[in-house]
Amino acid sequence: MRTVTELYYHDDMKKEWQKESWRKYRQSHLEQRRKYAKEHRKQARTREKKYRETHRELCRKSSIESYQRLRRKTLKKLGNKCVRCGFSDSRALQIDHVNGEGAKEREELCCSPYLKKVLADTEGNYQLLCANCNMIKREENGEYRKHVFDDGSKLQSHSFKGVYA
Ligand SMILES: [Zn+2]
Repeated sequence: MRTVTELYYHDDMKKEWQKESWRKYRQSHLEQRRKYAKEHRKQARTREKKYRETHRELCRKSSIESYQRLRRKTLKKLGNKCVRCGFSDSRALQIDHVNGEGAKEREELCCSPYLKKVLADTEGNYQLLCANCNMIKREENGEYRKHVFDDGSKLQSHSFKGVYA
């Protein structure tokens, strides 16, 4: 007769073994799985679409949560506060491209891919600024987006420099 500890120990070992063999199985059938996924891509897409339609609220919530997680992670990486004044309320913290190319990048990439790019950066190209400091920095450097007027004429970014001083 085994003791309770031994029984649990045994179960844990069994679980570990099952996990390990499942991992090995998946690894050894990698090619097969890839082939299957490729051949059944259309069905998978239809299934995903149907799932998203029937679980709309859940999907919306989970995508918001995953974006929030990603944003929190990015803010943490950048120090969780404005590099100029130390303001730390995350609601008004903005990611700033040190060389002022943020606006262009954000136009090219939407929210999550932009955050992922910031997370992957190892060269210190990004910093955190609060909304105020960000506006001030943009004004100082003339980092405004090109403005198009109703008549189609464009106001170049540098024209803004000093306007608010
Ligand atoms: Zn600030």
